[in-house]
Amino acid sequence: MFTIKGKTGDWEVVVGLETHIEVLSKSKLFSGASADYNPTVAPNTQVSMVDVAMPGMLPVLNEYCVDQAIKFGLGINAEISRKSCFARKQYFYPDLPQGYQITQPADQPPVVGRGWVEIMGDDGNPKKILIERAHMEQDAAKNKHDMHPAKSFVDFNRCGVMLLEIVTFLDTKNPENNSYISSPEEAERYLRQIREIARALGVSKANMEEGSMRADVNVSVKRVGSNTFGTRTETKNMVSFKFIKNHIENEARRQVEILESGGIVSQDTLRYHQDDGSSSVMRSKEDALDYRYFPDPDLLPLVITDEQIERIRKTMPELPAATRTRYIEKFGLAEYDAARLTESVDISHWFDAAVAGKTERAKGVANWMISELFAHPENYDITNEKSGIVDGMRIITPADLAELVDMVASRDINGKQAKEIFIKMLDGESGTPREIADKFDMKQITDTGAIEKIIDEVIAANAPQVEQYKSGKVGLLGFFVGNVMKKSGGSANPAVVNEILKQKLG
Ligand code: ADP
Ligand code: MG
Repeated sequence: MFTIKGKTGDWEVVVGLETHIEVLSKSKLFSGASADYNPTVAPNTQVSMVDVAMPGMLPVLNEYCVDQAIKFGLGINAEISRKSCFARKQYFYPDLPQGYQITQPADQPPVVGRGWVEIMGDDGNPKKILIERAHMEQDAAKNKHDMHPAKSFVDFNRCGVMLLEIVTFLDTKNPENNSYISSPEEAERYLRQIREIARALGVSKANMEEGSMRADVNVSVKRVGSNTFGTRTETKNMVSFKFIKNHIENEARRQVEILESGGIVSQDTLRYHQDDGSSSVMRSKEDALDYRYFPDPDLLPLVITDEQIERIRKTMPELPAATRTRYIEKFGLAEYDAARLTESVDISHWFDAAVAGKTERAKGVANWMISELFAHPENYDITNEKSGIVDGMRIITPADLAELVDMVASRDINGKQAKEIFIKMLDGESGTPREIADKFDMKQITDTGAIEKIIDEVIAANAPQVEQYKSGKVGLLGFFVGNVMKKSGGSANPAVVNEILKQKLG
């Protein structure tokens, strides 16, 4: 929970997100034109008569797009409506040749109903964020104002591509369930979760930088512990985690200041300014637009059958939440580690590739990834396509890390040596960890005879400490272990050293 200390007490922030993701499909939601609108495609080459609303053209619903919506719905544990409708949301803008957007309005059942995703809450525990709905709609074209000093252009390639809008639910009747986003960090984790689910399912690239994911951010504040929610503001079309977090914090502080000085928050639509993190009012509730929604007479209601849902359910891959549970239950990983390793599908694939089904390896791989590898992003390829030396950097592969972990587990090398090998790899040493160990003659002394000899020497050289140890100062054990390890050049097996030392010192 993100709290703000006010003059009159503590406040907490409440966030609602309306997230748009651009859905991957060969053709558009209601036409056969290609849905590939990426910037390398020449403008206005992927456009059908339907997209630009030529008279008499009729929309035809793309079944594949419906499947994508169902798939995502199942991915967020949602109810799938057996019947939903399309309506026209009317407004005029050059990027909207129909004069209306075909969407599924808020007062009617959307294709995807109530659902939830699980994120890591700010207290480190799993937290369910409720989702109210997800619905299908058309994207608009793209206006281009920077191509000519006196003219604007429109590229219709994107016009009619399917969007899925996912709206979080604020359960005002059960506020104590705490099932909403309550900090900037939780907002980011929620969006990342949506992104990872969309990617794992192949529903969307959900990439904010590329514009295939954007969010409207609703913010309000309330007294900590209060069950009454405050009035919210809404900021449209935000496309960066950083700006979203910054905006939530700034907006919450602004609202607290207003409320503490006796004012009221007005339910406005805001515009965020990237340069200084401030926002200004775009329109107030009073001049809310009237879109004159009405059911689209050209489209039949969307009917979905149980068979259709079951067919899609069978093709669902493992989703991040299930991966996390598998890591905790099967591999015995800590909650935090499991969360870090499922932050993206690529990370969990990399981890799974290193573990390669060997459960006993999982904890070691997790530790190395989280505490060492993540600190050196230039030294591994998270998509696991590259290996060897790339741009002068030694790429550490899942197989490398697996071998390192196995060598420690089988006591061929000790932890310290493993670290040295890892550092050599970072420094550009080629070869597998085992080859590096051979090259630098690193192996662990587990031979008890050899270790015993070193221990005898250390005991002989430190008679006063031996006396102290025997008279009860057992904390000195570390001193002896340290000396033996040093004398062995770091290659003795610490467990064996401990064991023999304890015997010898009595
Ligand atoms: P609209 O249709 O006007 O955008 P919705 O009721 O669909 O409004 O809500 C949009 C989003 O705002 C939802 O995610 C919802 O949970 C969120 N929301 C509603 N009330 C609040 C509030 N008091 N504080 C924060 N978010 C809110
Ligand atoms: Mg809205």
